[in-house]
Amino acid sequence: MAEIITSEKAIALENKYGAHNYHPLEVVLERGEGVYVWDVEGKQYFDFLSAYSAVNQGHCHPRIVGALVDQSRKLTLTSRAFYNDSLGVFEKYITEYFGYDKILPMNTGAEGDETAIKLCRKWAYDKKGIPDNEAKIIVCEGNFHGRTITVISMSTDPDSRGGFGPYTPGFVTIPYNDIPALEKALEDPNIAGFLVEPIQGEAGVYVPDEGYLKNAYDLCKAKNVLFIADEVQTGIARTGKLLACDHENVRPDILILGKALSGGVYPVSAVLADDDIMLCIKPGQHGSTFGGNPVAAKVAISALEVIKDENLAERAERLGKLFREELSKIESDMITLVRGKGLLNAIIIEPKNGNEAWDVCVKMAENGLLAKPTHQHIIRFAPPLVISEGQILEAIDIIKKSILSFN
Ligand code: PLP
Repeated sequence: MAEIITSEKAIALENKYGAHNYHPLEVVLERGEGVYVWDVEGKQYFDFLSAYSAVNQGHCHPRIVGALVDQSRKLTLTSRAFYNDSLGVFEKYITEYFGYDKILPMNTGAEGDETAIKLCRKWAYDKKGIPDNEAKIIVCEGNFHGRTITVISMSTDPDSRGGFGPYTPGFVTIPYNDIPALEKALEDPNIAGFLVEPIQGEAGVYVPDEGYLKNAYDLCKAKNVLFIADEVQTGIARTGKLLACDHENVRPDILILGKALSGGVYPVSAVLADDDIMLCIKPGQHGSTFGGNPVAAKVAISALEVIKDENLAERAERLGKLFREELSKIESDMITLVRGKGLLNAIIIEPKNGNEAWDVCVKMAENGLLAKPTHQHIIRFAPPLVISEGQILEAIDIIKKSILSFN
């Protein structure tokens, strides 16, 4: 008979046998549906993290899970050594959906970023004429693009980066949301690309000034530099538009997607670009055993269909406004700022009597809502986009009650 796993047991197992590379809240989940998750003792929670915006379509969306089950009964993996009957269909679907000539499918967000960097460098040598090995990419302070060596080489976060050198060269770091700094950095003729998150999610849902993306895009165009948007967290309806760049009518030269591309069902990421850029990569120059496998292809089509069929971008836009309005009404000197776009939001917490963002998250969990601090003083709120207005108001009550308990 299967052993019954209590919360205590599950945590002890992870502590003993798993690497200690995360610091989770002490909640052990075993089931999810829509906006809710349940722990092993049967307690129900609102999920206000959505696996860092991977579960935009809600937990275990029946259509997406159905696509996973159906395809995994038929054919799961061929590798790209052969064609399969799902990948091309997915490639057509996603390129039409986002309006690009081509897609390169990968699995994780970090791989998407790595792919975009390779693509940008290759374009720089083949098309822009930058001398070999001299291409540089501009990145922003406070960025988060994942955990691989090249990706952390771009990071300015001591936890992500410290102790993992030597680092990959070829990046120029400028402050985020700083157009003059970008203009100055673009004077270097060896700049090939500008890699940016339209909203910095992990940095604490840092929303740049209105017009920043458009200005940055125009400056890049003037210098024949590729504008590369990492929409792994902001993309796929999270911020109230299909892409966060859509708020400023910016069409990135290279678009990186991940997370919600599968509704949290399977690791699927993608890099999209037009032929002039994408065809710089030739057979044998990039790939992944699992990238573009038939299950990923079917799951991603289904996840994208759900976004459109359930109008999730519009819902995120409408309910995001309501959420921020209601959050702003909470009268507590612990909340110093509410910010965000769509249903990607955060509050800045001023510690009180030694209680910090972490303690607020523990209290909210006790009261039935899961969120996680990002840095010591910021709490991100990113529920599945299928949340209803009534559920938003219920969640606000929990957040309010939890914060006011520190008064
Ligand atoms: N890019 C951004 C903007 C992210 O927020 C993340 C993850 O949080 C990543 C890339 C990395 O994605 P993954 O964890 O799937 O590698």
